[in-house]
Amino acid sequence: MSTPAGLEAARALDAADPLRGFRARFAHPVDERGHEKLYLCGHSLGLMPLAARAAVTQELDDWARLAVEGHEQAHRPWIPYHENLAAGLASLAGARQDEVVAMNSLTVNLHLMLASFYRPHGARRRILIEAGAFSSDRHAVTSQLAWHGIDAGEALVELAPHAGAETVSHEAIEAYLEHHGEQVALVLWPGVQFRTGQAFDIARITRAAHRHGCIAGIDLAHAIGNMPLALHEADADFAVWCSYKYLNAGPGAIGGCFVHLRHVEALAPSSHTGAIPGVRLAGWWGHEPPSRFLMGPQFHAARGADAWQVSNPPVLAAAPLVASLALFSEAGIEALRHKSLALTGFLEEQLRPLQPRIQLITPAAPAQRGCQLSVRIRGDAGRGREVLAGLGARGVVVDWRAPDIIRVAPVPLYNSFEDAWRFAGALRELLP
Ligand SMILES: *Cc1c(COP(=O)(O)O)cnc(C)c1O
Repeated sequence: MSTPAGLEAARALDAADPLRGFRARFAHPVDERGHEKLYLCGHSLGLMPLAARAAVTQELDDWARLAVEGHEQAHRPWIPYHENLAAGLASLAGARQDEVVAMNSLTVNLHLMLASFYRPHGARRRILIEAGAFSSDRHAVTSQLAWHGIDAGEALVELAPHAGAETVSHEAIEAYLEHHGEQVALVLWPGVQFRTGQAFDIARITRAAHRHGCIAGIDLAHAIGNMPLALHEADADFAVWCSYKYLNAGPGAIGGCFVHLRHVEALAPSSHTGAIPGVRLAGWWGHEPPSRFLMGPQFHAARGADAWQVSNPPVLAAAPLVASLALFSEAGIEALRHKSLALTGFLEEQLRPLQPRIQLITPAAPAQRGCQLSVRIRGDAGRGREVLAGLGARGVVVDWRAPDIIRVAPVPLYNSFEDAWRFAGALRELLP
């Protein structure tokens, strides 16, 4: 544990880490005296890639220099700006480029996806989510049900862990669908659960959903950039994400969304396959580019997921993502995952001796988690908050999920094994 031997081990692992150079390409926050903080909060807001500044400045300069002409003449022209992001996002999502689009923010994208994919009919009206889902996802789903005139008390199903368990098993999802699948229109499930850090097998959940005729939608807020994904192969119907967590694109950054090719084709203007009803909440940016500015009354869909765009892209909120995706492409998500498994495993090893004063609620199986570990601080309700404040006073940045969970994420792009060692040491000092 947080012993000198632990420090030596951490330093040896850092020295052998082929990705260690990426740490210096991020801005690390500092305290009032200018000392670098120990940042383990990339699950909430990723650090700023140093290259983000130049990427944003470029757009400001182009705006200053070119004004309206920047739409076509900027260094990266603004009209097709989202296209700068498609290859990087497709590679992280495990999708074809025409299946992904950067746009809006996560919850807005979820609403747009539900508008297309939540099509209740007959007895099939329910939406299945996990109990304790992220508030915004739950608000989106309940308001969509209300929008359709459906009572959430009747149609929103929130699957809870079995008594005594912290996480929901794949078997429990399959069993629910086995018994009630005919009443379920849509399953909305996280790739990685925000509170517990549990990673789910997206292909398996999608198979279960499809077996019973349900749409499978995936929330990748905590999964994209955290672990390799294969959405196309997994056959998910749609997915949504934000880009300010593991994708390091900054506060309020442009989000993204995935629509499986078969739906893209089904909703193409010339297609009548009817895989899903041809409904989309549309705007001018989803219109095919060649005739968009003719401003005609008819909507002609752009190719692929691009057709779900509504508005022109927020360039200043997208530029940092260009910089960040370049780092992902350089490091490679497989190499990042390789390091992540070792790094999170090392952190877990350092924390294990602190049990039972803490409890690790993230699954112990590496395949069932990304980089985040969720640490329950045992004791009365005030105890955890004291520990969190103590960590803050020591320059450690993590976060808190009521009633008693500290979330800690050693991010392979910019955290080190020594960071993990230091965190365990700080926590040990603060526990009774
Ligand atoms: C972070 C996060 C969000 C954030 O939603 P925004 O619309 O981007 O503000 C939504 N859902 C989940 C599960 C998240 O983790």
